[in-house]
Amino acid sequence: MFKLLKDYTKDGWLACILGPLLVILEVVFDLAIPYVMSLIIDEGITSRGGDVNYIIRLGLIMVALALIGGACGAFSGVFASIASCKFVRNIRTAMLEKIQTYDFKNIEKYPVSSIVVRMTSDMRMLRMAYTSIVRMMVRAPFNLILTFYMVVRLNSSLSLIFAIAIPILGCGLIYIMTNAHPRFRVMMSKFDNMNAGLKENIEGIRVAKNFVRKDYEEKKFDHVSSDVLKAQRQAENIIILNQPFFELVMYACMIAVAWFGGRFIIFGSLTTGQFMSYLSYVRQILFSLLGLSMALMQIVNARASVDRANEVLDEKPNLDDKNKDSDLVIEDGSIELNNVYFKYFKEAINPTLSNINLKIESGETIGILGPTGAGKSTLVQLIPRLYDIYEGKIKVGGKDIKDYSLHNLREGVSVVLQKNVLFSGTIEENMRWGNPDASKKEIIEACKNAQAHDFIMSFPDGYNTVLEQGGSNVSGGQRQRLCIARALLKKPKIIILDDSTSAVDTDTDKKIQIALKEKLKGMTTIIIAQRVSSVKECNRIIIMNEGRIEDIGNHDELLERNEVYRDLYNTQLQGVANV
Ligand code: ATP
Repeated sequence: MFKLLKDYTKDGWLACILGPLLVILEVVFDLAIPYVMSLIIDEGITSRGGDVNYIIRLGLIMVALALIGGACGAFSGVFASIASCKFVRNIRTAMLEKIQTYDFKNIEKYPVSSIVVRMTSDMRMLRMAYTSIVRMMVRAPFNLILTFYMVVRLNSSLSLIFAIAIPILGCGLIYIMTNAHPRFRVMMSKFDNMNAGLKENIEGIRVAKNFVRKDYEEKKFDHVSSDVLKAQRQAENIIILNQPFFELVMYACMIAVAWFGGRFIIFGSLTTGQFMSYLSYVRQILFSLLGLSMALMQIVNARASVDRANEVLDEKPNLDDKNKDSDLVIEDGSIELNNVYFKYFKEAINPTLSNINLKIESGETIGILGPTGAGKSTLVQLIPRLYDIYEGKIKVGGKDIKDYSLHNLREGVSVVLQKNVLFSGTIEENMRWGNPDASKKEIIEACKNAQAHDFIMSFPDGYNTVLEQGGSNVSGGQRQRLCIARALLKKPKIIILDDSTSAVDTDTDKKIQIALKEKLKGMTTIIIAQRVSSVKECNRIIIMNEGRIEDIGNHDELLERNEVYRDLYNTQLQGVANV
């Protein structure tokens, strides 16, 4: 928590100083009130025999002290709240910036729902703890020190009661804190699970309806939501012990003070006024201790959230971008893979890709075919370093891909992933993701090459048509073409289309290929496809199976010598003929 405080309170320092400062003033004014009250009783009533002027004067002073103290308290609350909001805003921004540096492996570690909980619920916990630190963690100890000074000054023997009460309170507090922290961690992870389920449920609501799985989904949600309830109860059960425990000790102290204080009055070592103010101070001590313990509880709750925020902030990207300042840019679209091995997990026994050797000339069009799970997507994701290989070497433009900065490498290699997404905003805004400085003419040209221009123009708002989140208001094939156009706008040296025309009709698919081949000469194109027709015109076609390259050749060569390719071609040809 203190590391976060140190790093993320920079722009809220004024509010951060004013908050505690005003709290200290509030305490000073609050503490003066019982003292003035003892003067009213002992001086105004007892010694001066009911001096009304004196009593009114001191009474007005008491009111003024209460008003100023209250104002200080209110303003300290405002500043604490400003400081805490800035604090969590800074952490949220830092988390988002950090997430942007994540590679695919880091992203897979944190589900979206968990990130959302960390940036919302966890941040709320942190904000509350921060406010408590500024208010209670300053107020209570300061108040305690001053009040102790006052009670010891009033009657040191009576104050020995606290020498017994405070260690008891301390032990109880330590017990509650150590037991609560792990329970809160469990609770937050259950929240993650619930949110993941909720996200899946809502995103997949159309499928759930289609499969009439309403009851199943409801039961599933009920189960995770009950888990949250259980974890919440376990965490809260320990926290709620705090208040009754403190009140028990508090009232025992009050009774002891009343009992011994009464005797001291009888024996003349304490006046009634002193006793009254003593009781007020005792109440303040006990309320401070209660406030302190509640603030500590809030910090305990927030510790789990602090850990979770730190996990995201301290996550080390797996890909090192040691040449991030390098000016080296990709000169041409040639690709070379030498003895490449790859696996997703270090501990995996069998590599996902084995012994890949491949040389692609700049400007070539390469098709990749193979059964599902053959490693086609994995292979192409290694080129822009979405994952790093663990053995072998990959060169692009004649240079090792690790010699380029990740930025320059990915500027030169554009991938249209299988699960590509569009963002909420207009079509034109989505296109500018590919190139923020692209002119309207360039956008139209890219869309024409991706065979997207005609359908865009058929929308009443054309390029200003607003896409909903994920591009859910356009068809699958239209979405794919928009993603291709966006990738083309980067004017990359290499474009990789990973099953990016699967939802596009054969005729349009062919037009896209012709446009890529003829209008974007010089750009290396890699097309992963399930249909032979999508790769038939490629210069060479790679046949992959079980993480290995089985064969490479053009359509005619493969048709002649490769049985798998021939079967696939004939089956698909048959399928077309039968339609
Ligand atoms: P498809 O045609 O179905 O897209 P593919 O040939 O592209 O399949 P890949 O997606 O490259 O196959 O997957 C190759 C293997 O790697 C599969 O066994 C798959 O389960 C595994 N795999 C893919 N992505 C991951 C991942 N992110 N983490 C762990 N394993 C993965």
